[in-house]
Amino acid sequence: MDVAELHGIAIVGGGICGLATALALYRKGITSIVLERAETLRTTGAGIGMQSNGWRALDQLGVGLKLRQTAIPVLRNGEARCLKRSILVETLANELPTGTIRFGCQIIDVQMDPLTSLPILQLHDGTVIKAKVAIGCDGVNSVIANFIGLKPPKQSTMGGARGFTNCENGHGFSLELVTINKGHVLLGRFPLDHNLVYWFVARPITPQDTTKIISLALESVKGFPREMLEMIQNCDVDSLTFNGIRYRVPWELLNARFRKGTVTVAGDAMHVMGPFLGQGGSIALEDAIVLARCLATQRRAEVALDQYIGERRMRLVQISTKTYVVGTLLETLSVVVKLLCIVLMVIFFCERLGHTRYDCGDL
Ligand SMILES: Cc1cc2nc3c(=O)[nH]c(=O)nc-3n(C[C@H](O)[C@H](O)[C@H](O)COP(=O)(O)OP(=O)(O)OC[C@H]3O[C@@H](n4cnc5c(N)ncnc54)[C@H](O)[C@@H]3O)c2cc1C
Repeated sequence: MDVAELHGIAIVGGGICGLATALALYRKGITSIVLERAETLRTTGAGIGMQSNGWRALDQLGVGLKLRQTAIPVLRNGEARCLKRSILVETLANELPTGTIRFGCQIIDVQMDPLTSLPILQLHDGTVIKAKVAIGCDGVNSVIANFIGLKPPKQSTMGGARGFTNCENGHGFSLELVTINKGHVLLGRFPLDHNLVYWFVARPITPQDTTKIISLALESVKGFPREMLEMIQNCDVDSLTFNGIRYRVPWELLNARFRKGTVTVAGDAMHVMGPFLGQGGSIALEDAIVLARCLATQRRAEVALDQYIGERRMRLVQISTKTYVVGTLLETLSVVVKLLCIVLMVIFFCERLGHTRYDCGDL
């Protein structure tokens, strides 16, 4: 195999985690390359709720102030604002030196160089890239996680629809994050400003569901307050997305091997979780800060990666357990399991927003 290029750090995937990791490294004076399979920045998913822990990480990346100007704070214990995904990824990308992100680069295979033990990334067009360190930020179907030996994430019986509704004369909603849960359906709304509101519906799904998002979202929220139904009815159709929910079970995170040689994972590739706490993106930002800090302070990459994994593991176990319990509570038909979830919530997670007080530390 002819190796065309050699890089210090190659980041696979230019989503929130990949871009944040590249930016965190750049702030520490370390260059990297981001290999993204899409031809442009991916902005699907309309909005993203960002709470105190996410804002702390964005401040460390030096983009907190700029992003705060794009979304108003909502009433919460701690800071909470909803961002447009497009603005978040564009802001992260614009802070990177030109040429850092390479679009149209899909990684299809990873191998270990038998001589140097360094990772060799194979692209769909036959290009081969060798790196001293490879970081998989390639999301839920991660090629890098597969190379490391992580199992594919589990498929939930729930799915999530999301979108924006823009009301020219003001939406009139209170400026707070409101979630309503009825039976197996969770509906939430999160205003970005006085006109634009982000909403999401988590509900049980069937394989045909992706084709008729609005009608299914509306059908599943029958009996919810009228203004919530109108919000979905009047949504901006272009902003709509629908995803099946995938997750890694917390006990897998407890003892999973997250490193193979100098290859590791971050973001959804490492710890995808249900959207029930709205934390996947914030946790991915925390990963980026810790990973860059470890790579900047340790001379040997393997030691840095082990330090990163050691620092992240219990945080990931805790947050994914809380998400898992909230998701199970919504999903299960069994009264016994429901009761068990409530007991677990009361014993371990009695502080509803305790997870947002986490501080991933300075970059
Ligand atoms: C319904 C729903 C609602 C959510 N709401 C919130 C919320 O309110 N707040 C929050 O914090 N989080 C939320 N999340 C979670 C959040 O969206 C994710 O955790 C976050 O986007 C993960 O970022 P990532 O960069 O790890 O992965 P991704 O965003 O999936 O990015 C992966 C990138 O890798 C690229 N890629 C994939 N494979 C390859 C390859 N082989 N080669 C090269 N590139 C590749 C992809 O094109 C993509 O750009 C929600 C998730 C869902 C499903």
